Amino acid sequence: MPEIAASTPSSAIPRCRRDGIGSASWQQELRGAVREPEELCELLELPPEIAAEARRAARDFPLFAPRPYLNQIEHGNPHDPLLRQILPLDAEQAPAAGFNADPVGDLAALRAQGLLQKYHGRALLITTGACAVHCRYCFRRHFPYAESQSPRLASAWQPAIDAIAADVSLREVILSGGDPLVLVDSLLADLADRLAAIPHLSRLRIHTRLPIMIPQRIDDALLDWLGGTRLAPIMVIHANHPNELRGPAAAAIGRLVNAGIPVLNQSVLLRGVNDDADVLAELCERLVNLRAMPYYLHQLDRVAGAAHFEVAVEEGLRLMAELRRRLPGYAVPRYVREVAGEPFKTPLDR
Ligand SMILES: *Cc1c(COP(=O)(O)O)cnc(C)c1O
Ligand code: SF4
Repeated sequence: MPEIAASTPSSAIPRCRRDGIGSASWQQELRGAVREPEELCELLELPPEIAAEARRAARDFPLFAPRPYLNQIEHGNPHDPLLRQILPLDAEQAPAAGFNADPVGDLAALRAQGLLQKYHGRALLITTGACAVHCRYCFRRHFPYAESQSPRLASAWQPAIDAIAADVSLREVILSGGDPLVLVDSLLADLADRLAAIPHLSRLRIHTRLPIMIPQRIDDALLDWLGGTRLAPIMVIHANHPNELRGPAAAAIGRLVNAGIPVLNQSVLLRGVNDDADVLAELCERLVNLRAMPYYLHQLDRVAGAAHFEVAVEEGLRLMAELRRRLPGYAVPRYVREVAGEPFKTPLDR
């Protein structure tokens, strides 16, 4: 499962920041993320029963949510679509047929320590097991990062880098995790340099939720190394609902695009979050208006604990048909499912 990024208790972070007055660094926001269900419910004016349920349900996969994201959640609404993505529910403990710990065959795709390859020309580097948030539907919630020895120190990436250097069919490396942007820029800049020194690579892709979760992560230090590498940069963000694209998150996307970095978005189709044509259409329009392009709409990976988020494929197809009717072609994401062993993400609407 994604690890908790840092262990400083949230009480160590000055409270005034919550009013938006102070200016916490992204590292402070990461350390100060909310981990206690009681605190979450107090902040969002939710009844104590919800905290009690969350505490029960979070046993295997703890609550972890950064405050800039919580600022976008409506107070007093237990059905808020952003809250649903981070709030542990009893439903996670219910056994569901067909839902298991490794739904997308990640373990079979390990090529070296921390390196997954499933598709031609691109390989995915698990840079860290940590994330800036624990998404309740995460397909990696059971991934044994420790056993795959996900690199935490620059030297630990060497076997993966050697494997990339030895395979001339690779064109692109995807920094993933966990979330690569929980790592400091000095480490990432060094990694980008080592990858840029491999002549057959052309592109460096980053898969991250940080622009949505802690928008101040998109700072000058990040834009310096990402904009300065020989490799063509691409950032794939992960927003599921238009409310995730307001204020600071919208500004963070603007900074990336202004720095010449193409931004794509992937979403997961989630019951009670975005299984609605109006919501999806607004998400796509808002992305395009921010100059970020809708990329994938993923059918939920059938990971144990996430069955209550599943939307039937027939319903997904109906939503896609509605998006096609309403939006320009470039604003319609590809509806895909990941099937273990397939050579690409499988299109669901052909
Ligand atoms: C999803 C995924 C990719 C990216 O696939 P694209 O279709 O290129 O976006 C690459 N590697 C692995 C292991 C993946 O799971
Ligand atoms: S940010 Fe991505 S990897 Fe991390 S918990 Fe969320 S879905 Fe999983």
